[in-house]
Amino acid sequence: MIAEIVQVGTPVLRMRAAELTREQLLSPPVQELIEVMRDTMRSAPGVGLAAPQIGVGLQIAVIEDLADYLAEIPAEELELRGRRPVPYHVIVNPVITLGEQKRTFFEGCLSLEGFSGVVERALSVKVECWDEHGEPKVIEAEGWYARILQHEIDHLFGTLYIDRMNTRTFTSVKNLQRYGRRQS
Ligand code: ZN
Repeated sequence: MIAEIVQVGTPVLRMRAAELTREQLLSPPVQELIEVMRDTMRSAPGVGLAAPQIGVGLQIAVIEDLADYLAEIPAEELELRGRRPVPYHVIVNPVITLGEQKRTFFEGCLSLEGFSGVVERALSVKVECWDEHGEPKVIEAEGWYARILQHEIDHLFGTLYIDRMNTRTFTSVKNLQRYGRRQS
């Protein structure tokens, strides 16, 4: 099943999502929700989706960066972004620690359809969370994967990329394609 992705202005996108207990996480409705999130992310398509984006205020996000998505992007752009395939996985109740180094790139969001802006993010992060089975995980990520994690975890705390972007770079995706993806 595929859910509707809510757009900016929907109040749930601005709320702190609730942490889950293991019992809640393992309950059939939440397990089903995670499957809906996965299918919705793939159908969008997107490289990440947080529960608030389908109107659910719970601290769950799904992430997947498929080799297929990377196939049409020039190798040097992938290299610049540190973008590599990331297998499907689920993060629950995450706590994120940001590395010192920063990188600045255009990014977009399925809840701000058709727009993009330049956002400075940490190059590397450490995320402590659970997987969908309630097993504790520690993720050490770099490059684009680290950016996806920061973006999705922001969603769980009511933050959107527009809160962090350089506002003068805000653009429609159409114009980004028309005038080029200039990097800062
Ligand atoms: Zn987003």
